[in-house]
Amino acid sequence: MADWFFLSYPKLDTGYITINAPEVIKHFKAKRLNEGAEIVLFDGEGGAFSARIEHLGPKEAEVFVLHRLEENSEPPVNITLFTGILKGDKMDQVVRQAVEIGAKSIVPVIMDRTVVKLSEGKRKDRQLRWENIAISASSQCCRSVVPDVALPQKFTRALSSLKALDLVLVPYEEEKHHGLFTFLSSINSPPSTVGLFTGPEGGFSPPEIEALKNLTGVYFISLGPRILRAETAPLAVLSVLLSVWGDLGSSS
Ligand code: SAH
Repeated sequence: MADWFFLSYPKLDTGYITINAPEVIKHFKAKRLNEGAEIVLFDGEGGAFSARIEHLGPKEAEVFVLHRLEENSEPPVNITLFTGILKGDKMDQVVRQAVEIGAKSIVPVIMDRTVVKLSEGKRKDRQLRWENIAISASSQCCRSVVPDVALPQKFTRALSSLKALDLVLVPYEEEKHHGLFTFLSSINSPPSTVGLFTGPEGGFSPPEIEALKNLTGVYFISLGPRILRAETAPLAVLSVLLSVWGDLGSSS
């Protein structure tokens, strides 16, 4: 299968284009592509085109864009993952894998028990880093729409955006009555916008749980008797939600 490359500029259309974005040229070379190589260029907003490298110079490439790809790999359910920010490369892992599994957007949340301290300046840096991870995960999994990664934000801010969603699931290890599976069996038709909110390494604090309890449309769920790591829990739930409501496991 042809390799996918993200291109924010120039705007994609059929015909000849010149690419001089250094990261794309570098990427072509790293993949050892030569003239005549068939590739896919995508704009991150749903446009993906089959193309052929006509000429590859030291700093630019001449590419012939052949046609727009018709297939769409976007899941039918729109899931936003709110996750407490995790330490080290755990957060990179969550972003990368959430994009592959099919989250529509990711909101990194600064919570009471978040260990990493992020100054205002660092928040922007982290967002850029995670946006780049989302782009590379999208190229790798042939996803023409790059999921949005929000600027790391405080819990109260994240809380206010939950209201716009049809349904919000909060995996909480102290929830002893409602399991994810029984909850899903009680829903008749798939919601169109879903929030999934998982805690950081130390879990949710009692005030955070209280604040979430006061919102309508928020459901606490158990993931069973084992406590999953903070980087495992969101991916496990996303996989289940996208199997039941989305296209994970579909035949195409
Ligand atoms: N409170 C714990 C564990 C936090 S696990 C501690 O003190 O270390 C990180 C997050 O994963 C939790 O906030 C929760 O959202 C989710 N999680 C992990 N295991 C879970 C389970 N068995 N049921 C529900 N949620 C779980």
